[in-house]
Amino acid sequence: MGKNYLKKISILGSTGSIGKNTLNVISRYPERFKVIGIAAKSNIQVLESQIRDFKPEVVAVFDCSAAERLKKKNPPAEILSGEKGLIEVAKLKGVDLVVSAIVGSAGLIPTLEAIKARKNIALATKEALVMAGEIIMAEAQRKGVKIIPVDSEHSAVFQCINGRKAEEIQRIILTASGGPFLRKDLSKLKTVTPQEALKHPNWFMGKKVTIDSATLMNKGLEVIEAHYLFNLPPHKIDVVLHPQSIVHSFVEFIDGSILSQMSVPDMRGPICYALSYPERLERVLPSLDISKMRKLTFEKPAQVRYPCLRLAYQALAAGGTMPCVLNSANEVAVDAFLNKKLPFKKIHNVVANIMKIHNVSKCKDIGDVLKASEWAKEKAGEIIESLSY
Ligand code: MG
Repeated sequence: MGKNYLKKISILGSTGSIGKNTLNVISRYPERFKVIGIAAKSNIQVLESQIRDFKPEVVAVFDCSAAERLKKKNPPAEILSGEKGLIEVAKLKGVDLVVSAIVGSAGLIPTLEAIKARKNIALATKEALVMAGEIIMAEAQRKGVKIIPVDSEHSAVFQCINGRKAEEIQRIILTASGGPFLRKDLSKLKTVTPQEALKHPNWFMGKKVTIDSATLMNKGLEVIEAHYLFNLPPHKIDVVLHPQSIVHSFVEFIDGSILSQMSVPDMRGPICYALSYPERLERVLPSLDISKMRKLTFEKPAQVRYPCLRLAYQALAAGGTMPCVLNSANEVAVDAFLNKKLPFKKIHNVVANIMKIHNVSKCKDIGDVLKASEWAKEKAGEIIESLSY
């Protein structure tokens, strides 16, 4: 593939934070990237402007009534609807790379279908790997598909490993900002509101991942994601708090040498790297003025403040359906917190309780994964309901 090759791209989740940033990157390199398909849940107002600006051939709207409303406006694109529509966008002919950026478990099936259709994946939907890591990585290998991480930490690890073998890696160290409650009085965590939890100090992201950053569940999910992406056992994946969000992760090799990747915290960096890989493009991010950086600090995350992190390691150790159950229970708990139906500190309790009553089984196929997910969501809903009485 030469320098003048125009990469054709579909975006699953184009109206979310990653989707918008992806389109922002694409708009700056029109000679390199062309949008062929976009898909979103229901935000047709944003979709309309994206159709105007990027002229995709096919647009899918998950919500069928929203799709109907969009159709009535006669946009210059084919409009599809439902999960079927999302899957069609994931498989579009002629597309080289699918950006998987649907929030949560809804992104799993379209991502898997894109892999089956031999599309390379720029993966932002970490939940897909958390829920069905073995199935997804096996399918990617079977089809010769590259899965390039968009998550900033995994992009950092990916860049540092740069094709080296897993045997040469001693461990990886994922960095975490610690979220808005890093220094908050522990006794006050009980009463924090969604508004407070949504104020992330360094990154501007979607709501789900911002809450997950505050509980550190996000880092837990990223540990599981890293396990599958880089084929590393859990004991070779560490987490360290780094409130400045400049070092995006470390890789320690067997000779004791450590590499890290740094940049200003801006998702357009890892997004652009995933789009342009294996090349690097010019002027993606502003230069980091290292002479002005007073200090970069690192510390161990405290278990009392961030109990969710341990749950993720426990789920990974249990294997089978457990990571999926962790993820789906967490999704329901975060949603309840955002809707003021669950206190912040109880997010952990809900997930822990669901894990406790779950009988782990193997994930032979995607049906097993979906069944475990449905079970966890239903049980989490019941527990949350019982807590509010
Ligand atoms: Mg991340």
